[in-house]
Amino acid sequence: MAITLFDPWRSKLCTCPRKYSLNPYTGCSYSCVYCYITSYIPRGFEARLKKNLLKQVKRDIAKLDPRIPVTISNSSDPYQPLERDYRQTRACLELLKDFNFGVEIITKGDLVVRDADLLAEMRAAVAMTITTLDEGIAVKLEPFAPSPERRLRALQRLAERGIPVACRIDPIIPEINDDVSVLVKELADIGVTHVTSSTFKPRPDSWRRFSKAFPESAAKLKELYFEKGERIQNSYYLPGEVRFKLMKRVRDACDKHGITFATCREGFRLNTARSCDGTHLLRSSYPGNA
Ligand code: SF4
Repeated sequence: MAITLFDPWRSKLCTCPRKYSLNPYTGCSYSCVYCYITSYIPRGFEARLKKNLLKQVKRDIAKLDPRIPVTISNSSDPYQPLERDYRQTRACLELLKDFNFGVEIITKGDLVVRDADLLAEMRAAVAMTITTLDEGIAVKLEPFAPSPERRLRALQRLAERGIPVACRIDPIIPEINDDVSVLVKELADIGVTHVTSSTFKPRPDSWRRFSKAFPESAAKLKELYFEKGERIQNSYYLPGEVRFKLMKRVRDACDKHGITFATCREGFRLNTARSCDGTHLLRSSYPGNA
C-alpha cells in the first residue's frame, strides 16, 4: 500500500490523532543532519521515484476512510527537488481532493507554494519545518533544503491564500538552536497559528553526522545524551528536566505571541492545541461544501 496508518514505531509517547501517512518519494535529498530516515531506509538520502505510485494511491483511496486525514510526508519531503520535474505530490493531492480527504503537508520545500491553488480548494494545512533563522546553522543542519528565509516567505504566501499554516520547530538542539524567540515572533507576524516542537533524539547514524557537523557541541552534549539521558526504543533522549526546559522555552515564546503549542513525543503536559501535529487546523468540510 502507498497510504498506511501512521505508526511511529508504536511509540507510547506519540499523541498523534489517527491519521494516514503517504510518502510520494522514497528517501530525501535534503540530507538533514538530524534526520532519522537513514536508520530504516537504505540509501535514505538518495531520493527516488516510487514505481506505480499513482495506481497504488488510487487503489488505496477507494478503500480508506476520508474522515481520517492524510499526512504527506513523514519519511521524505514531498516538495524536494524531484517534485519540480515529476509532480508526484501534486498528482497525489489531486486524487485525494477527488475523494474529499483532509491533508496535512509537512515540508521544508518552498515549492509547496506552486500548489497553493489546489491546497486552497481542499481541507488542507501546511506545516513547514524551520529550526533556525541563522542561515549558517541552517546550512549545516539541513544542507540541501531551502533557506529558512525562503521557507518563511512560502508560509507567508500560503497564509495569504487562506491556507492554515503551522511550523515545526523540530528538532531543538541545546546551544545550536534553542533560542527561538525571534523565530516565533516572525511566525506570528506572518500568520502562523500553531507550533509543534521536539528535542533532538539521535540514533547512531544521525549522531555521527551531527558530531561531524558540530564537533564542539557534540563533545559537550555526549554525556547528557549517553550517560545522563535515556534510550527510548532506538533513540537517545536528553534527561527529562533538560527536555522540559527546552520545550517550556518554546511554549513561553508561543504563549507570548498567541500561537498554540504542542510537543512531539516528549511526554510533557505542555500542549495548548487540540492536536499535537497541527491536524486540528484542517477545516471540517471542504471549501464550498460547508
Ligand atoms: S527534510 Fe525531513 S525527511 Fe528529508 S532529510 Fe530532512 S528530516 Fe529527513
